[in-house]
Amino acid sequence: MSSRTITNIVTGQPTTDGAGVKLNRVLGTQQLDMVDPFLMLDAFYSDDPNDYIAGFPNHPHRGFETVTYMIAGAMKHGDHMGNTGHLRAGSVQWMTAGRGVIHSEMPEQEEGLLFGFQLWVNLPSDQKMVPARYQDIPPEDVPTVERPDGVAIKVLAGTAFGTAGPIHGVATQPLMLDVTLPPGTSVEIDVPEGHNGFVHVFDGGARFGEDGRKVRKGQLAVLGQKGKLHARSSNGGRFLLLAGKPINEPVARYGPFVMNTRDELMQAFADYRSGTLTG
Ligand code: MN
Repeated sequence: MSSRTITNIVTGQPTTDGAGVKLNRVLGTQQLDMVDPFLMLDAFYSDDPNDYIAGFPNHPHRGFETVTYMIAGAMKHGDHMGNTGHLRAGSVQWMTAGRGVIHSEMPEQEEGLLFGFQLWVNLPSDQKMVPARYQDIPPEDVPTVERPDGVAIKVLAGTAFGTAGPIHGVATQPLMLDVTLPPGTSVEIDVPEGHNGFVHVFDGGARFGEDGRKVRKGQLAVLGQKGKLHARSSNGGRFLLLAGKPINEPVARYGPFVMNTRDELMQAFADYRSGTLTG
């Protein structure tokens, strides 16, 4: 039985985005540009409202998908079509921007801890201009696989231990799991063959692969392409596992747009300026 090895470990970089939200960019940095089909992963974690209160006022997207997963606190989502969503702790929103979305993502609280993730997932060229689509999943619709040893696996997308997550119909057939390892436990997780993947440890620490490479809180580890994922933790840890089918196409990205060519990027900016981004 082969086991996924760790091919690279990177540490997130503090940055600001939106109207000045402080966050930790774990993927989509100079250090690690992307893990096809994943383009970016931001972690926002603060109990200081000054770090997050300004939120992400109206801004556009085209050509990819944004995924928001909340651990603590709440965000309010609104878009150009008048859709609104309330992202509570434990909920996940998978937004396929496709041809275009203009939306805002604002904290729905003025105090307390705000903790969550935003992931960007690329779309293949033949799906970059599809109509926008939302999958808003409340916490009670995210199944958890609980084992007798206390290992808990929230299945957000894909299938783990026979349990399927609530996100469906995504081009890159993603696996997205939130895994909690109590002290002294281990787990072996099936990852679809040929998918690229990574883990991001956001609490404690864990070791991965047969050689047990240690990944600390705040770090991201890129996985090799074959076999199951072995994970274990002596002192306890919690991590996100993401895997997806690589798209293997040229990527032209700038700001909120991710296309295949520079001309398509210029077109996205032109459409946004002329008010035709969303069709
Ligand atoms: Mn956005």
